[in-house]
Amino acid sequence: MSSNGNTKHVKVLVLGSGPTGYSAALYAARAELQPVVLTGMQLGGQAALTYTIENYPGFPDGVGGAQLGELFQKQAEHFGAVTEFASANSVDLSQRPFKVDTDNGEYLADVLIVGTGASPNHLEVPGEVELTGRGVSYCATCDGWFFKDKKVAIVGGGDSALEEGLFITRYASSVTIIHRRDEFRASPLLQHRAQTHPKMNFILNTVVTDVVGNNKLEVLRLKNVKTSEETTFETDGLFIFIGHTPNTEMFKGQLEMSDLGYIKVNERMETSVAGVFAAGEAADPHFRQVVTSAGMGAAAAIQATRFLEAVESVSETKTEA
Ligand code: NAP
Repeated sequence: MSSNGNTKHVKVLVLGSGPTGYSAALYAARAELQPVVLTGMQLGGQAALTYTIENYPGFPDGVGGAQLGELFQKQAEHFGAVTEFASANSVDLSQRPFKVDTDNGEYLADVLIVGTGASPNHLEVPGEVELTGRGVSYCATCDGWFFKDKKVAIVGGGDSALEEGLFITRYASSVTIIHRRDEFRASPLLQHRAQTHPKMNFILNTVVTDVVGNNKLEVLRLKNVKTSEETTFETDGLFIFIGHTPNTEMFKGQLEMSDLGYIKVNERMETSVAGVFAAGEAADPHFRQVVTSAGMGAAAAIQATRFLEAVESVSETKTEA
């Protein structure tokens, strides 16, 4: 890394400190490219907010999400990766080195690896924003403890809803899954565990239309989507697990993306701009697993290394000529 005033020039800049970012950093560091990882708002990414990860290979008894994140970081740093606690605010990918404006000044990067992940979706119903942090949450690991012996409702029918719901049964007196259909996307294993858990209940074919409370969540207004019947449900907590949106806003107009905002990459993790690679949930609407994100991050760094080697050999040939 070289520095000129508040501008730092790096060979490899990795955006994001989740499994994608640190796997990319590990590979880039072992290729002696001294990668810099900008952590973003959440060190360790979404995975670090997961209580236990049971499907990351090598941990037969599961591993804490935060613990796995620390291990990823430690391993990448062991080989020379540098962690910067900063977020990218904007990027200019019109020429190399790419410009990345951050809270800590400007970076110039010979290659950029985007591992910015995704953020939880909101229901977008009245009261949700006002009561976030006052009973409404998107993170069971962060907030589950606050609902000791209390009633909790969860919206969603995917793996996250059931897995996090099962986690909250450690604290809550009851956990009610409110799902808009009568079939779940969640894996059969999680469905079985949830349906046989004594603290778990289900309200199906139902959506939340209002989140109501005076300074703290008190009641949800519900609507049955089949009968249109409207009811209320008293609860202390509401956890919302209805999918994610990729964190790719700052690349709009600069990188090709799908309609849903996922960065388009080929099988080599190359984006529409040479020298910019993307991996993990910013580019992957299909798998979104810790292991697949880590794998994509590693692939991006391998390809970034090849890209830099090719660029350097061209510039050496030009110098010789
Ligand atoms: P997801 O699979 O996309 O499920 C989202 C759920 O929210 C769906 O049931 C969906 O209903 C519902 N939903 C979406 N928008 C809604 C709205 N506006 N109002 C009400 N309900 C709404 O998301 P996820 O559970 O976060 O999982 C994301 C990915 O991570 C998946 O690939 C999943 O397999 C993976 N994951 C894996 C694990 C694990 O392996 N242990 C754990 C967590 C996540 P519909 O079903 O009707 O569309």
